[in-house]
Amino acid sequence: MTHVPPPPQGGCRSAPVLKERGQREVFCGLTGIIWLHRKMQDAFFLVVGSRTCAHLLQSAAGVMIFAEPRFGTAILEETDLAGMADAHAELDREVARLLSRRPDIRQLFLVGSCPSEVIKLDLAKAAERLTQEHAPHVRVLNYSGSGIETTFTEGEDACLAAMVPVLPRTEARELLVAGALPDVVEDQMMGLLADLGIGPVRLLPARRVDEETAIGPNTVFALAQPFLGETHAALTRAGARHIPAPFPFGEEGTTAWLSAIAAEFGVSKDRFEEVTAAPRVRARKAVAAAAETLSGKSAFFFPDSQMEISLARFLTRECGMNATEVAQPYIRDALHGPELDLLPAGPRIAEGQDVDRQLDRALADRPDLTICGLGLANPLEAEGLTTKWAIELVFTPVHFYEQAGDLAALFARPLRRKERLRLEAAE
Ligand code: SF4
Repeated sequence: MTHVPPPPQGGCRSAPVLKERGQREVFCGLTGIIWLHRKMQDAFFLVVGSRTCAHLLQSAAGVMIFAEPRFGTAILEETDLAGMADAHAELDREVARLLSRRPDIRQLFLVGSCPSEVIKLDLAKAAERLTQEHAPHVRVLNYSGSGIETTFTEGEDACLAAMVPVLPRTEARELLVAGALPDVVEDQMMGLLADLGIGPVRLLPARRVDEETAIGPNTVFALAQPFLGETHAALTRAGARHIPAPFPFGEEGTTAWLSAIAAEFGVSKDRFEEVTAAPRVRARKAVAAAAETLSGKSAFFFPDSQMEISLARFLTRECGMNATEVAQPYIRDALHGPELDLLPAGPRIAEGQDVDRQLDRALADRPDLTICGLGLANPLEAEGLTTKWAIELVFTPVHFYEQAGDLAALFARPLRRKERLRLEAAE
């Protein structure tokens, strides 16, 4: 059963992909800690890294004055890096100190970094050892947030994938939704699924370790974020089955995402219509307001957040833009195929990055709007292009119906500002 019309002919799923493996300009996976520590309320993220890593976290997350922070950095000193000190013994001491001071911590993530990877510090072994020491009160896991060959949303992906093997097992038929969403958005999603009569719904990550997220052969899962390739693989290995769908960005994406889940759970067309009709109208109306600025404009996507294909689909199909190039760090058919089906044929589709070549292509295209990482925004603005930072998209609630208008407005804002400046200059 399907609740939405079939995709149009002529999408991009079988379009040739330009694969680039050159220099990349992206943030590292430590960035994910900033939103993950807010989501998982009994977790602590201990980065095993350098002063640079500590500075990145401090400046990106701000300093919490009143609350005890739930992230920190165990700094590897020169003696560790030179192999002159036992980094494992120091880490054990640091963790023991932290956990004795903070009984509220139930999950501790040891987060690898470039320096810990360079000296090949075995954090998996450390996590195993520390779990034995601090169980059952604290579960210690590890993942890498290193910036070597990764992009910034891979931090969340690696973190969630690390949690899958330790989830309790269940035989129950349940829906698991993976991807950290702001609480207010998560509540809206749970409301929609409940109204459709779908449940039980479990979340990864759950807000607390004791919540009932489990996995087994009867678990079906949906991804709320397009950057969860490793998590998808881990869930599949654990016996769960993926429900492929476009991602819940914009009215169309949200409807298609809900529809795929509704079809899996046998929800009737009438019920689906009853639940989604009003929010769909609201979302379309909100998007239309911002689309006035966006319609007819061109967009160029540098690979950064792993959300590029989904956003290009939203901007082209719901906001009337056209894309000249859509580049994403990785393209996986199981995750991005349904989005590529919907993306109208035309743009160059690229995977990976060779930043100099791509800059040349962007400058040749001269798009009205360029979606890129922070590092490229200033040089491109200096060339007269209008830019949008991809990283803003993970810090702003943008999923599902009630945020569709805000999502479109995020892209309309830089174009409006540019127009205002042009008019002021002309006066
Ligand atoms: S993990 Fe690597 S890229 Fe990220 S802040 Fe640390 S040293 Fe820099």
